[in-house]
Parts: sequence; structure tokens; C-alpha cells
Amino acid sequence: MDSDKGEELLMVRATYDVPYHWSAGQYVGKFFEELRDNGRIYANLCPKCGRGLIPPRPWCARCNVRMGEWVELNGRGTVLVFSVAQQSFWDSGRGEMTPVPAAGAIIQLDGAPVLLRHALQETDPEKLRMGMRVEAVLKPREQRIGTLNDILHFRTIEDEGHG
Ligand SMILES: [Zn+2]
Repeated sequence: MDSDKGEELLMVRATYDVPYHWSAGQYVGKFFEELRDNGRIYANLCPKCGRGLIPPRPWCARCNVRMGEWVELNGRGTVLVFSVAQQSFWDSGRGEMTPVPAAGAIIQLDGAPVLLRHALQETDPEKLRMGMRVEAVLKPREQRIGTLNDILHFRTIEDEGHG
């Protein structure tokens, strides 16, 4: 053997089609059922550190304690950070290329110390700012299937009518 050439590897090419599904479990299952059937968004709270989780989960991995109270959120929140994609990318959650421009944000939801990453309706960077108020827009009931994408996006709240 000629040691300068190295070993030639035989390549075997194959395409696998492996459909799978898994149980969402009690907590995430209830969360998605409520979102799909009733349009309600829930988080649950850690009794020790106080943080919220969305979707709710049974255990706080930080504190190693069982999560506590479920709280219904009003679907509103505050944008902490955002970005606007001008280049299309694969959205594994939707199983398709994302139309651009596409805006995404980390949103501090009202009613619980919980953050959610989701899409924004507004995609004009000039109209986006940190601290802006937004509200979840759900798909129509007949289109909801029990995923976080049942929330279509978050729209800008023009006037919350403080008073
Ligand atoms: Zn905790």
C-alpha cells in the first residue's frame, strides 16, 4: 500500500424515511391541548426559584424540584431582543423554508417570569424596537394542531388602553 495516498473509503449512500412521533406527556400534552382547543396559553412556576416554563414541564432542572402552579397567560408580552432574517432558512418546526423577511424575538410574557422565542408579524426593522409590546395571534381553531406554531406570530400592540 502507498501510505501517502491514505485509505480509500467506500461510500454507501442511502436516504432514510423515518417517520416518528412521541407522547407529549401529561404536562406538554395538556399545554398543547389547551392551546389547540381553547386558545389558552399556560406556563407553570417553580416553587423554589420562581421561574416559569412554557410549555410547562414537571420538573425544574435548576432546582431539582417538582414544578408548581399553572398560570394562564394573557398572550401579551414585551420584546426583549429581536432579529430580522433577510435570507431564507429552513424552519424545522414548520418543515419548510421561511419566507423572508422574517422577524423573530425573545418575548417576556406577562403574568409569569417566562420567555418565549417566537415570530413577529412586523418585519420592518424600522418599526421594531426592544421593549415594544406584542400580543399572540392564534391560528383559527380549525387550523390548530397542538404545537407552538398554533401561535401564528406576535403582533404589535398599538394601544393597550392604559388607564
Ligand atoms: Zn427552580
